[in-house]
Amino acid sequence: MEPIHVTLPDGKVQEVPKGTTPADIAKRISPRLADAALVARVAEPNDGAGELIDLRRPLEHDVKLQILTEKDPDALFVFRHSAAHLLAAAVMELYPDVKLGIGPPIDTGFFYEFLRNDPFTTEDLAKIEAKMHELAAQDLPNERKLMPKPEALELYKKNDQIFKCELVEEKAEDPLVSFYTTGKFIDFCRGPHIPSTKRIHAFKLMSVAGAYWKGQEGNPQLQRIYAACFFTQKELDDHLHRLEEAKRRDHRKLGAELDLFSIQEEAGPGLIFWHPKGGLIRTIVENWLREELQKRGYDLVYTPHIMRRDLWNTSGHTGFYKDNMFGPVEVEKAEYQLKPMNCPGHILIYKSKLRSYRDLPVRLAELGTVYRYERSGVLHGLLRVRGFTQDDAHIFCTPSQIESEVEACVDFAFAVMKNFGFDKFEVELSDWDASHPENYAGKPEDWHRATAALADTMQRMNIPYKKIVGEAAFYGPKIDVKLIDAIGRPWQLTTVQFDFNLPARFALEYVGEDGARHQPLMVHRALLGSVERFFGILVEHYAGAFPLWLAPVQVEICPVSEKVIDYAKHVTETLKRHGVRVHLDDRNEKLPAKIRDAQMQKIPYMLVVGGKEAEAGTVSVRHRSKGDLGPRPLSDFVDALGQETESRAIS
Ligand SMILES: [Zn+2]
Ligand SMILES: [Zn+2]
Repeated sequence: MEPIHVTLPDGKVQEVPKGTTPADIAKRISPRLADAALVARVAEPNDGAGELIDLRRPLEHDVKLQILTEKDPDALFVFRHSAAHLLAAAVMELYPDVKLGIGPPIDTGFFYEFLRNDPFTTEDLAKIEAKMHELAAQDLPNERKLMPKPEALELYKKNDQIFKCELVEEKAEDPLVSFYTTGKFIDFCRGPHIPSTKRIHAFKLMSVAGAYWKGQEGNPQLQRIYAACFFTQKELDDHLHRLEEAKRRDHRKLGAELDLFSIQEEAGPGLIFWHPKGGLIRTIVENWLREELQKRGYDLVYTPHIMRRDLWNTSGHTGFYKDNMFGPVEVEKAEYQLKPMNCPGHILIYKSKLRSYRDLPVRLAELGTVYRYERSGVLHGLLRVRGFTQDDAHIFCTPSQIESEVEACVDFAFAVMKNFGFDKFEVELSDWDASHPENYAGKPEDWHRATAALADTMQRMNIPYKKIVGEAAFYGPKIDVKLIDAIGRPWQLTTVQFDFNLPARFALEYVGEDGARHQPLMVHRALLGSVERFFGILVEHYAGAFPLWLAPVQVEICPVSEKVIDYAKHVTETLKRHGVRVHLDDRNEKLPAKIRDAQMQKIPYMLVVGGKEAEAGTVSVRHRSKGDLGPRPLSDFVDALGQETESRAIS
């Protein structure tokens, strides 16, 4: 047998007989690796990417080979795909008449689709899950089989698997069609798969949802069984726990319970009504931000919500951004456009007079409300809406100022996150794809300089970041900051973007030191992103229990009986005079009911006042999470509260 050469990731080359499998090579490397191996990646000797193949697939020529274990994210997808086959195998055993659709891996697990007259019930899911465990325990091998196309079609026709016939007709290109068997189950599939079923145990069938075949309305409706699936039980448990927590924290649910905001069908989808309590929190957030903007050298501006459509032709939005805009409005034979972005407005303010290098940088900030068209199907509470307010700013500066401006933006972003109680984050630097310059505005030297400026800034600030090629906006590279919330979910928040495009389109200028006209650089940046979305994130991060400085009601006064109502009013008035947001519960209810309701509203402090407190001039302090803190003189409590609010403490 002629030998082939297999190059391993460490550069070592093994000479093995043709037909050797990745599994054989794993065994030669170490029994531990052979045991942990799930799938292999092979690439041509001179090619980077390569493809995933089964461990039992014979190697036919010289390749680069990598054995993947649980440590590799790609292996997880293969693992989940194999689990999807296991689901189909279990369903076919229990309900042999179902017709099979497709079963791909997804983000946290997999699904498989079935056509069946009766809907799958919760009991059915339990039965299927038990059958999956039973089959998995049999350690059934996932075996690849090749079949001529006519034979494959015959097989599926015989079993009346209409959708599979359709798939084989469409997708099978080679004369030989590849199938995978798992015990008695056989599925048309390109693979690859993990060697057998024994490792698949950490899964849970989550739900059933209707889905049209191939996602096309008018096609038969299949039932999709969704499952969560991980390598280990611990990962699955953590995931399920996070889901529970996410449900508990859902801002749509809390928004209604705490009376923060609403979306009204009468007004239209994706448009937010801020109720008094939500509106109060928003005001506090915005006031803090405005103060900070001024401290950091920004000028606050306001620009119109609707402007001539011609302006959006100049900016390029009617071309590049058309699908996201509301339609034009005609006024006196001219077309006007509801703004999807604030940039052109700020540009017009910049252009309103001749600028000198001494005026730069010009930093124009606006809490600017924009309107974007989103399909109604993708709208989601406060997170995906049609009208929202950006904490937007545009910085116009000289090339020599760009690094310090970017640094100041990133520093500002971190100050914002810290202020609102977020201490974990991820930073991404999105660069262009240099192999496709036609997709971008700006010259290669602009891109190199801008990306280098961003990278240098991150390094100087000691901020670890991930560089992502091809993710830049068409007009320039950007830095994105994602915060990680209380239950570990990342949220895209801040974005700092270079722009080579708009300064050129609007012919922006400044007079340089040399007396000549130059084009300024432009940076777009939003720190919170959208105020609506940020508020949704805050609600979920704190599960509605806002820190004292943000809480719409900070203190609930709970008199134990009618008899002490005068003292209760005195306490209420005293707190109000000190600027505390306080509410007196003067209902004719028992104390436990008052406390329970205040707890439900997540009010930070409850002050219990009875005869003893009235006599001593004290209040009995109760905190929503720390519980009973005992009696304190009223004036002491007022001072402590003032300090906690001032310091914007997070607790
Ligand atoms: Zn498959
Ligand atoms: Zn902008």
